Amino acid sequence: MIEVEVKAKISSFEEIEQKLDEIGATKTKKEFQEDIYFNSPVVDFAQTDEALRIRTTKENDNTNIFITYKGPKIDSASKTRKEIEMGIEDSVKCADIFEEIGFKKVRTIRKNRQYYEYENFEISLDDIEGLDPYMEIEVALEDGQDYSEAQNEIFELFEKLGITDGFERTSYLELLENLYK
Ligand code: ATP
Ligand code: CA
Repeated sequence: MIEVEVKAKISSFEEIEQKLDEIGATKTKKEFQEDIYFNSPVVDFAQTDEALRIRTTKENDNTNIFITYKGPKIDSASKTRKEIEMGIEDSVKCADIFEEIGFKKVRTIRKNRQYYEYENFEISLDDIEGLDPYMEIEVALEDGQDYSEAQNEIFELFEKLGITDGFERTSYLELLENLYK
């Protein structure tokens, strides 16, 4: 699928939660996400703008694990890119396999994410360990579908929520890396 996504730094979660309520967005799940990012032995994912990660999500007593591949961003305004994700059973064994074949752990990122749904948008309020509050709005499209309209709609929704600046194309991983430079 194609992930069309725009991220913005926000000043407070409360303010946005209130706005989301006002427009009639639905609060859905809240989960803890732990992401282990890997780098390839063949190319540097920081250069090729790709990503490989194992994500463990926890919501109450429910734990789920996914492997995700993200392709390079394909436009200059948003974070639109190909994404392939699948559920797996065992994160430790999966990390072992990746490491045996030469992939290296880059960093683990932990966050609490509150999801909201509004029309065909998925909205995430992200409380990332070590970073300021951020939010993301995402639309998922089929491979090959035109993403420019979805991208415009995302920016319109941000405007509706009172957010007209603070947009960020840098990944959480790089934002954290930059802090420790
Ligand atoms: P999602 O939207 O799938 O829930 P997320 O919001 O938690 O993910 P993002 O910041 O959107 O996190 O995506 C992870 C980012 O990490 C990707 O943009 C990817 O390009 C970047 N990344 C992955 N591996 C590396 C690496 N080795 N070096 C630098 N950046 C990387
Ligand atoms: Ca994201």
